[in-house]
Amino acid sequence: MAREKKVEKYDVVIIGGGAAGLTAGIYSGRARLKTLLIEKSLVGGLATYTNEMENYPGFPEGASGGGLMELFHKQAKKFGVEFKLTDVKSVDLTGEVKIVETFRNRFESKVVIIATGGRPRITGAITEDKFLFDKGISFCATCDAASNTGKTVMVIGSGDAAIEEGMFLTKFADKVIVSVMHDNGKMDCNEIAKAAALANPKMEFIWNTVTHEFKGEDHLEHVVLKNLKTEELIPVKVDNCFEFIGYIPNTELFKGQVDMTNRGYITTNEKMETNLEGVFSVGDVRDKFLKQVATAVGDGAVAGFGAEKFIAETEQFQNYIMRDDVDNLVYVYNAIDEFSRDFLPKIQKIGNEREGYVCTPVDIYKSKGIAEKLGVKEFPCLVVVKNGKIVEKIDQELCEESICKVLESCECSCGTCTCE
Ligand SMILES: Cc1cc2nc3c(=O)[nH]c(=O)nc-3n(C[C@H](O)[C@H](O)[C@H](O)COP(=O)(O)OP(=O)(O)OC[C@H]3O[C@@H](n4cnc5c(N)ncnc54)[C@H](O)[C@@H]3O)c2cc1C
Repeated sequence: MAREKKVEKYDVVIIGGGAAGLTAGIYSGRARLKTLLIEKSLVGGLATYTNEMENYPGFPEGASGGGLMELFHKQAKKFGVEFKLTDVKSVDLTGEVKIVETFRNRFESKVVIIATGGRPRITGAITEDKFLFDKGISFCATCDAASNTGKTVMVIGSGDAAIEEGMFLTKFADKVIVSVMHDNGKMDCNEIAKAAALANPKMEFIWNTVTHEFKGEDHLEHVVLKNLKTEELIPVKVDNCFEFIGYIPNTELFKGQVDMTNRGYITTNEKMETNLEGVFSVGDVRDKFLKQVATAVGDGAVAGFGAEKFIAETEQFQNYIMRDDVDNLVYVYNAIDEFSRDFLPKIQKIGNEREGYVCTPVDIYKSKGIAEKLGVKEFPCLVVVKNGKIVEKIDQELCEESICKVLESCECSCGTCTCE
C-alpha cells in the first residue's frame, strides 16, 4: 500500500541549492519567512566543482568555489533556512498554494523559487556512458586540469567555454587537441579567445569533426572522430577528454506549467517572476545573458526580496482590499503626484461618511503588486469593492461627482458631494 506523504507548510520553498538558491534563501530567511531549500545532490551546486574562481567580487586573490559556497550555506542556515537533501519529483505550481513533492513529503507553500541550474550536454557518441566523469570524460577543466599535467587531452566544442577552458588546460597538459565541427578557422567563441587559441603552440585543431565513439578498456584511450565532409573515422589517442558543448537546463519538472524558451530555459521578467503568480526562477536555469555565480547571486537576491513582497501584498490584498464584511473604496494613487495626493483626503471623507464603507489607500510606489492584482493601469484610480468583488473602477475624470454617481449617491448625505 502506498504510504501517505507527510504534509509540511512553508512560506517559501526553493528548489536547488546552488549559488542562486542559497542567495534567495539568505534573503527570504532574513525576511523571517519560513523557508525550505531542497537540494538533490550537493549544496553549493555547480560552483562547488570550480577550484579557482577569479571573477567573483571581493576575492582579489581568487576563491575556491567550494569554500565560497560553504559560506553561502552557513549564512543561509544562520537566517533559519531549513535544508532537505532530496530530489523534487513533481510540482503543481498553478494554484494559489504551490505543491512540491519529494519521495516522502508533500510541501505546500505560498512561493516557490526555481533554482535548479543546468547540466552539461553530452555528445551522445557510442559508449560515452562508460567513460563519463572519472573514467576519462570530464566537464570541468578547472577541477581536473592538474591531474592532466604532462598528458594529451581532447576538448570537444569551440564556444567560449570550450576554448577558454582548453587554453586553461594548456597550462598543465602537453597537448590539447580540439575537435571543431566547423570549417578550418571557424569557431563559435569570441574573436579574442579564437586568436589566442590559434596562436597557442600546445593547441591543435581537427576541423569538420564530430565525436563518433569513445574507446578504451577501464579508462578512455581513444576518441574516434568523424569527418563531416568525408565521413572518415579518425581515432585519436588521448588520456582524457573534456566536453564543452553547452548545458541543458534542469526544467523537465516544470514543463507545461512554467513558460520556457524553446531551449528549455525559464523566462522571467527583471523581478525574476515567471508567468505564474508566486513562482520565481533564478540562476542558470533561467533565460539570461550571463550565467555566472555573480549573476546567480543577483537573481537570488531579487527573488528572495520579491518573495517577501509578494507574500505581504497577497495577504494585504486578501485581508484588507477584497473585504466582504464592508464595502471598500480602494484608492490607488501615486503619493508623489500632487493631484492624486491631494485627492486622498476627499476620498477618505467619502468613505468615512458613508455608512458601511471604508477607504483603503494603496500607494503604487510601495504596493505596485496590489495595483496589478486589481488590474489598475491608470493612476489615480478608485476601485469599488462590494462583497469581496470589484464592482467598479473609476480612473477617467475622477472627482467627487463621478464617485457619487457610481455609488448611486445622488441622495448621498456625505456632505462632500456637489452633485445635484
Ligand atoms: C567548469 C565550470 C567553471 C565555472 N567557472 C566559473 C567561474 O569561474 N566564475 C563564475 O562566476 N561562474 C563559473 N561557472 C558558472 C557557475 O558555476 C554557475 O553560473 C552557477 O553555479 C549557477 O548557479 P545556480 O544556483 O543557478 O545553479 P547550480 O549551481 O547548477 O545549482 C543548481 C542546483 O539545483 C539542484 N537541482 C536540480 N534539480 C533538482 C531537483 N529536481 N531537486 C532538487 N535539487 C535539484 C542541483 O543538484 C544543483 O545543485 C562555471 C561553471 C562551470 C561548469
